[in-house]
Amino acid sequence: MDERIEALRRRIDELNLDLLRLLSERAAVAEAIGRRQTEVGLSHYDPMREQAMLDALVSANRGPFSDATVKSLFKQVFQASMQLEQEQDKVQYLTSRRHRSEDTVVWVGDVAVGGDHPAVLIAGPCAIESREQVMATAAHVARRGVKLFRGGAFKPRTDPYSFQGLGVEGLELGREACDAHGLRFVAEIMDATDLPAFERHVDMLQIGARNMQNFHLLKAVGRSRLPVLLKRGLAATIEEWVMAAEYLLHEGNPNVVLCERGIRTYERFTRNTLDVSAVALAKLETHLPVLVDVTHSGGRRDLLVPLTKAALAAGADGIMVEVHPNPAVALSDQKQQVDFDGFDAYLDATLFPRTLTAGRTELYRG
Ligand code: PEP
Ligand code: MN
Repeated sequence: MDERIEALRRRIDELNLDLLRLLSERAAVAEAIGRRQTEVGLSHYDPMREQAMLDALVSANRGPFSDATVKSLFKQVFQASMQLEQEQDKVQYLTSRRHRSEDTVVWVGDVAVGGDHPAVLIAGPCAIESREQVMATAAHVARRGVKLFRGGAFKPRTDPYSFQGLGVEGLELGREACDAHGLRFVAEIMDATDLPAFERHVDMLQIGARNMQNFHLLKAVGRSRLPVLLKRGLAATIEEWVMAAEYLLHEGNPNVVLCERGIRTYERFTRNTLDVSAVALAKLETHLPVLVDVTHSGGRRDLLVPLTKAALAAGADGIMVEVHPNPAVALSDQKQQVDFDGFDAYLDATLFPRTLTAGRTELYRG
């Protein structure tokens, strides 16, 4: 390379850095102006001011750039500054990656969900039906390395004449089973007035799909100290789901885990349609951990393994799956819960046993 050119290029490099420093300094001043304009209710866009600045620049221009080139260069600078001013006016959502770039890790007792921690598995029956049923299920999943146990005590049922759950007695049985087997207990809360009972018995509150936009419940749960598993509504957009999480964070509860559980579509071969893109998007747009409930997503036992693989490949931080000692006689979700042998086969097929102790990357192999 020619030495003269090399030397001139070094000078260009220095000037680039000088220009960057000046542009950044100018941007900081523009931001300060923008903040003041917002305070006193003035618009950021002031065409008269822009014209005056361009006139001053053109009259100071001694070349070699033409006046038109100087104008177009500075118009770019003005536009970039206005974008900065408008950005500042946007609400800073607490759930947003822009607000917090690093992954949030939610602790359920001593179990970490999210970040670089191994994928978690929440397993247990759809509903807590009896001491025998809950004890047997807790014993089985704990033996297989599961740490997070699920079981509904207050069930949101479409048909008012179907089993509604054991209520507080169910919470007590769930607690007893979890304590007996070293498990953390996750259960759905449907009514804010039940919060004291939940705070006594559970380690994680679940807000179900049907209550995702129950803002009264969201506010109450947002004031709780317990971590929350927030299911996506049956027909909720990703934005509505994330806004529901925003309610929880806004009320002071930062320990929120999102849970995709399938959305209602025209498809009838599955109970719901697992929205894999929602998992990836929720991870991109928010800093919260994201789980996938593979049981309610497909509503089919034969889809549990592929949906689990898809969810984890899309970046899910864990999976929820329903297990029952004898699904044929279950009081809810008979078609989709797996029995103990089915659960063992599920673990083997998804390689979950290894991830329950090792790193999450193990999951994608095989
Ligand atoms: C559940 O997990 O028990 C449940 C009712 O799920 P969803 O709210 O997603 O329908
Ligand atoms: Mn269920």
